[in-house]
Amino acid sequence: MDEKKKIAVIPGDGIGPDIVAQAKKVLDKVCEKFGAVFEYKYVPAGGSAIDRYGIPLPEDTLEICVNSDAVLLGAVGGEKWDSLPGDLRPERALLGLRKGLGAYANLRPVTVFKQLAEASPLKKEVIGDGFDFLFVRELTGGIYFGKRGRDAQGAYDTEYYSVEEIERVLRVGFNAAQKRSRKVCVVDKANVLESSRLWREVAKNVSKEYPDIELSYMYVDNCAMQIVKNPRQFDVIITTNMFGDILSDEASMVSGSIGMLASASIGSGKTGLYEPIHGSAPDIAGKNIANPLATILSAAMMLRYSLNMEKEAANVELAVSKVLESGYRTLDISDKNTEKHKIIGTSDMGDMVADSL
Ligand code: NAD
Repeated sequence: MDEKKKIAVIPGDGIGPDIVAQAKKVLDKVCEKFGAVFEYKYVPAGGSAIDRYGIPLPEDTLEICVNSDAVLLGAVGGEKWDSLPGDLRPERALLGLRKGLGAYANLRPVTVFKQLAEASPLKKEVIGDGFDFLFVRELTGGIYFGKRGRDAQGAYDTEYYSVEEIERVLRVGFNAAQKRSRKVCVVDKANVLESSRLWREVAKNVSKEYPDIELSYMYVDNCAMQIVKNPRQFDVIITTNMFGDILSDEASMVSGSIGMLASASIGSGKTGLYEPIHGSAPDIAGKNIANPLATILSAAMMLRYSLNMEKEAANVELAVSKVLESGYRTLDISDKNTEKHKIIGTSDMGDMVADSL
């Protein structure tokens, strides 16, 4: 492969620059091993952009991101900027980026590597050999964006979805399922909500385009239970903005370590935004102890979903798994009661994954 792919890189604040540097090492190794060519453009956003330009998302940053094939982001934010008014806070950069990129689907893999099973609050027999499912959450519609208001007696919020909004996020989920175990579960509250009944109708229609994918439905309250009772049953879960917000946070807890969880926001434009789900962890910034694996796994998602490099993505994931198998751990995922774990720093972890590719 010699087609050059453009990657905009936003290191951000706190641990952001450290963890992004490790993902870059791994991507460089992907180029070396698989013959890919990446052109990186480093751009500021978040607190570091506020310090330099007075705003969290400079126009140039957004323009470079929109014109790239993918955006890799570390994390933004920190105490230094906490007293700024809402519109000027670092986190605004994320909203601006998602909007600018037209990202209407948020993808969050929930993976428990069998080597990290002890970090999960779930019982060993529930985890088995580990599990791996993917949340696809609708990101720009539903009750968070619907009509809301108050009258003299109370207040209301509206869950509204157009057929088009439902179709496009479903397609993201069905396409993802084709790269996984070919099972889609639409999570809703169709026994009560009319909008959920529309989701089911649309899902049934969209599924005709994907005869190779098995479609099922589940009520959201049951899904909340099943995530802790039998998480291995899931492959791809597709759901609304609010249900996805709540369930994906529940699911991130069952994995046991915030330093391991990747995410992607993708949509109408060609560019996806890839970032770990954790924040800028100011408490450990600059100490070379942050776990870079969530960012490295986000880079793997970028290879898979934006750059169409499935083999390379799977190899990065395998490399992470191998390093864990060898007992190497950053502090946050290490078990102090075992001698099997060798605790290493952020930078060494990046080297180990790159070397193991
Ligand atoms: P956080 O995720 O930054 O940290 C929570 C805890 O997890 C901390 O103890 C931290 O040390 C630990 N942690 C997080 N990532 C880790 C990693 N990779 N390795 C090891 N330990 C890790 O959440 P917070 O403390 O609530 O927020 C800190 C800042 O980050 C705030 O300014 C917040 O607004 C911002 N934030 C940004 C994003 C983003 O950029 N997407 C997301 C969440 C929070």
